[in-house]
Amino acid sequence: MICPDWVTALDESDTLAPLRAGFVLPAGCIYLNGNSLGPPPAGTGSRIAGCVMDEWGRDLVASWNRHNWIRKPDQVGALIAQLIGASPEEVVATCSVSANLLKTLSAVLSLSGARKEVLISDDEFPTDGYIADALARFGMAQVRRAPRAQLAAAATGDTAAILFSHVNYRTAEIANLRTMSDAARRAGAMTVVDLSHSTGAIPVDVNAAEVDFAVGCGYKYLNGGPGAPAFVFAASRHHHRMDHLLAGWMGHSEPFAFEAGYRPHPGARRFLSGTPPILAMVALLEGVERIAEAGVERLWQKSRALSELFLSETRTARERHGLELLSPTDPMARGSHLAFRHDRAFGISQALIAAGVMGDFRAPDCLRLGFAPAYLSYGEIWTAARRLESVLERGDYLSSGDADRGVVT
Ligand SMILES: *Cc1c(COP(=O)(O)O)cnc(C)c1O
Repeated sequence: MICPDWVTALDESDTLAPLRAGFVLPAGCIYLNGNSLGPPPAGTGSRIAGCVMDEWGRDLVASWNRHNWIRKPDQVGALIAQLIGASPEEVVATCSVSANLLKTLSAVLSLSGARKEVLISDDEFPTDGYIADALARFGMAQVRRAPRAQLAAAATGDTAAILFSHVNYRTAEIANLRTMSDAARRAGAMTVVDLSHSTGAIPVDVNAAEVDFAVGCGYKYLNGGPGAPAFVFAASRHHHRMDHLLAGWMGHSEPFAFEAGYRPHPGARRFLSGTPPILAMVALLEGVERIAEAGVERLWQKSRALSELFLSETRTARERHGLELLSPTDPMARGSHLAFRHDRAFGISQALIAAGVMGDFRAPDCLRLGFAPAYLSYGEIWTAARRLESVLERGDYLSSGDADRGVVT
C-alpha cells in the first residue's frame, strides 16, 4: 500500500531520518518492539570484532591496561549519566537490572537504620518485586505494595525505599520523579527508580528531581544487545556511607592489591561486583553513543509524533473492535510505547507479526507497540496502522490459539 503524500512529506522533513541507516533491520519488517530489545547499531559488529582481534587477540591480558578495559564500566556509565542528568562518577554500567535492584535496595537499607520497608507499586515489572521479596525472605526488608497512583502518599515512618519505574513497562505512564522524591523525603525515605523504559527514550534528570538511587536497562532504548549490561545510579550525597550486598572485588578501591578486607571504590564504581563483560560493554558503548548523539529530547518528540499518528490512523478500527488504549492519551504523559487491551491480544500480536509488524504481547491481555524513533519512519507507522486495521477487519486473530505461544512473548 502506497503512503499518501502528506505522510511522505513528514519523512522528507524529518531531521532524524538519517539515523535509520545506522541500524541493522531485516527488510520488510516494521519493528515496533525496540522497547523490548533494540536492534543492532550498524557499527556494533565491527566494533566487537575489533575488540576481539585487535585488543584481546593481540594484547591478551595486557588489554586491561593497554586498552583501558578496566575503566569500561565507568566510561559507559559516564555516557549514560549524560542521558539521565547525573554526574559521571554517579553512574556505572554493570550486571543486570535485577542484580542492580538487589544492590541499590540493599544500599538504601544500609543507610536507613531501623527502617526496613520497601514500598512498591502493585503493577511493577515482576523482577523488581521478586528482588524486594527475596530481601524480605532473608529478613532484610519488609515489602508493602500499593497502587502506583497512591505510592507517594503511602510512605510512612517505617519506609526505607519507594521503588518504582519512571515509565511503567505495561502502560508507558510516566511517574513524576520530583513528586515521588519529595514524598519520599517528607516521610524520611529514599527513592529507587527503575529507568529501564525511560533511558534513551524520554528526558530524565535524576539530580534535578533529587532521586537517591536508580537502575536501568542497556538492551531496550540503548540498543546495547541482548542481555547488555544494565546500570546503577547513586546520588553523590550517599557515596561516603552507602554499602551493598554484592560488594565484590571489582568494586574495591584497589582490586589488584588483593587485600583481605573490602575497601570500597569511591563513587558508583563500588556497585561493580565481578569482572565486567568487555565485549558486551563495547556493544553497549556503541548503542549509547548513537542515542547520545541523536539527543533524547529530539527522539522523544519524534516518538510522540509517531505514536499520535498511529493512534489517529487506527482510531475507527480500534473503536469498532474494542481495542482499548491502556496508555495515557496525553503524549506528554507517556514514554515511547503504546499498550492496548483486548481479550485476544495474543492473537492480534501474532497476526500483526505475520503481517510484518513486530510488536509484543504482555500477559494476560496487553498488546504493546513501541515507537523507538531512531529507526522508524512515518511511512512505516502509517503502514503499520493499515495492517492493524486489516488484521482487525479480517478477524483472523480470533482463530490464533494460545497453544503456539512461545516461552518468550
Ligand atoms: C526490562 C526491565 C527489566 C529487566 O531486568 P533484567 O534483570 O536486566 O533482565 C527490569 N525492570 C524493568 C522495569 C524493565 O522494564
